[in-house]
Amino acid sequence: MKKIQKSKLKTKNRKPKVKTFEFLLVVLTFTFCLFTFDCYAERNVRVAIIQDTSALNLRIKGFFQIKDLKKGRIIHRARNINTTVIVSKDGIDLAGIKPDSNSLLIESDDPQAFTINSKPFRGNIQLIRKSNNKLLVVNHIDLEDYIKGILYHEASHYWPMEALKAQAIVSRTYAVYQMQENTSKDFDVTNDIYSQVYGGQVSERYRTSIAVDETAGMVIFYKGKIIPAYFHATCGGHTENAAILWGIDLVPLRGVVCPFCKESPHYSWHYDLSLKEIAEKLSAAGFKVKNIKSIAIENKDSSGRITNLIIKSEKQELKISAKDFREIIGPNSIRSANFSVRIEGCDAVFEGIGWGHGVGLCQWGAYFMAKDGRNVEQILKYYYPGIDVKTF
Ligand SMILES: [Zn+2]
Repeated sequence: MKKIQKSKLKTKNRKPKVKTFEFLLVVLTFTFCLFTFDCYAERNVRVAIIQDTSALNLRIKGFFQIKDLKKGRIIHRARNINTTVIVSKDGIDLAGIKPDSNSLLIESDDPQAFTINSKPFRGNIQLIRKSNNKLLVVNHIDLEDYIKGILYHEASHYWPMEALKAQAIVSRTYAVYQMQENTSKDFDVTNDIYSQVYGGQVSERYRTSIAVDETAGMVIFYKGKIIPAYFHATCGGHTENAAILWGIDLVPLRGVVCPFCKESPHYSWHYDLSLKEIAEKLSAAGFKVKNIKSIAIENKDSSGRITNLIIKSEKQELKISAKDFREIIGPNSIRSANFSVRIEGCDAVFEGIGWGHGVGLCQWGAYFMAKDGRNVEQILKYYYPGIDVKTF
């Protein structure tokens, strides 16, 4: 949208011949946009930045307009606001403006207009009143700006540039995949670990932004389709097959040997937890477990990760997948499904390797590959065999 406006401005002082040519170009681009994904409007990611809140502070610098998305019309125009937005059963109250709508889009041309609860955000802001009378705040942001806002949280800005570029392409691919999957939902991604941690403008760094700019628009395809480009911190020697974890059977996500992440600071881990606490966490998750007697590994998959655990307690035996067990105990405590477990007194002692689910790009593997002189394409094609990296 912004780029189209810019090109309009540029045509002002030119000769009619050029004007006609540019007009045709704009018409052709617009027609092309109607039939492809390559469209400015569709390159906005919708990030849920706040969920289930009753009030928030909203500061807008400069001119803005509020659009009622239910009726599709602009209901208010103003400039400079610093207010508390309140939501209740009566609707949304925005500085005394009480629109008859549960979905408002606040738009501004200023790329640095919005501050929400003291945090600056690029793009536009959507306020949605949910059926529980709580507010969902969605940041509509240009895809490239979004990647700039997450990359710092996924990799250190001091990392080798080829590793940062690999992460930028992987993060962009994952986001675009979510954009395609969630068109009928209120948002594409959340701003936490369940999607990719998004810190807004304050998370941008010089080197991570260079990595985003140098790979602008590049995503990972397999047989012409954008893949869900999963990634994790450290695989510990072999990446995982997505078919085993989530039933996604794709050649690039079947797992590869990774000799690169041995020196990762997250290569091995150790965690102790009392049997009582394990039983409590499992019970809270709905499993009937009391007085644990033993925890045993039932089987492992071809990557060496545990498939199922058998937990014997006083009266029963529980068979639980390592994936669910990690989720219940805490994925940052039981850092991977590749571990051994033994009981010492009243505690279970876990010793494992790797950090994360293990599917797709091994971030620390990518770091060491880049340090050894491999380029971004070599890194990506190693962890996702059979792929193409193209702009979309
Ligand atoms: Zn690895």
